Formats: sequence, structure tokens, C-alpha cells
Amino acid sequence: MEQTFVILKPSCVARGLMGEVIGRIERRGITVIAMKMMQLDIEKLREHYAHLADRPFFPGLAESMMATPVVCMVLKGIDVVRVFREMVGSTNGRNAAPGTLRGDLCMSNQANIVHASDSIENAKIEIARFFDPSEICDYTPQNLSFLYANDELDPDYYKK
Ligand code: UDP
Ligand code: MG
Repeated sequence: MEQTFVILKPSCVARGLMGEVIGRIERRGITVIAMKMMQLDIEKLREHYAHLADRPFFPGLAESMMATPVVCMVLKGIDVVRVFREMVGSTNGRNAAPGTLRGDLCMSNQANIVHASDSIENAKIEIARFFDPSEICDYTPQNLSFLYANDELDPDYYKK
């Protein structure tokens, strides 16, 4: 089953929105399999946002990501990379559709409360960047048979 990587940004933590975001993840039926609070530093952000390092907004972005500790999470579910990106919404909160996390909870292009991996390949890289394998609790939720139909479930799920 697929995994994705999430950061609850300082704009989420400082505004008291952690519970709201985690609650929506849980209510959707997505499983949280790792979660930790940490203070990001510039080295980690240069790696994480390497594709944006040359952009004029990078220094401000890095500063905003270090303003408070963040919460890093690994989520698990069928198609969870795409599903969670759709839950997050467009980058600019002012353009994000109502019903999405950004479209309901923020007004900013930068202080947009959550990071979510944009592909399965990047999810694997980002999970490995922020978590030691021992920190990932890849358990089987008890309500799995109510989250999915049997034929939707990967037959190898229980072995993973
Ligand atoms: N960002 C910004 N200004 C911009 C574009 C992006 O500050 O013009 C920040 C914003 O916080 C965004 C992050 O850089 O979430 C990463 O940008 P990306 O294009 O990957 O957007 P995302 O995948 O988060 O929607
Ligand atoms: Mg991105």
C-alpha cells in the first residue's frame, strides 16, 4: 500500500491547526503510520526544497519553515499520494478550492499550512530524508475492512 510524506508547516502549528488537519486525515480513512515534531534547519530545507533553491522566494520560504517546530508524518492508504495532494489543494491558498485543506484554512501562497509529496518516487525520497525506518509504525488498522472493499486491498498488504 502506498505511503506519502507530510509536513505540518509553522503556519499550521502556530495557528493551532494541527488537530484540524490530522482530524481530516483520520476522517478520510487515511492511516497515520509515523509522526514526529522537529525543528528544521537550513541544511534540511536546502535538500527538501532543492528544486526551489534558486528562486527569489527561497530565503523567505526557508525562514518561514524554521519559524516554529514542524510536524512530519507518513500517511498510508491506497493511492494516498494523489488523494492527499488533492486534499491539500493548489499551492496558493487564495486559489485553492473550498473543501481542500489550503482552500478552507489558509490565505497565503507561502504560509500554506501543509507540504505533501507530489509523486510516489518523491514520497519515498522524502520519507527516507525525514524518518529513520525504525520510526515508522507500519501497522494494520483494525477497521481496514470498513475502509476498503476486499477486492481493493492488495493481497500482499498484510505481509508488508
Ligand atoms: N512557495 C512560495 N512562493 C511561490 C511558490 C511556492 O513561497 O511562489 C512555497 C510554498 O510554501 C510552497 C513551497 O514553496 O508550498 C513549495 O512549492 P511547490 O511549488 O512545491 O508547491 P506545493 O507542492 O507545496 O503545492
Ligand atoms: Mg511541492
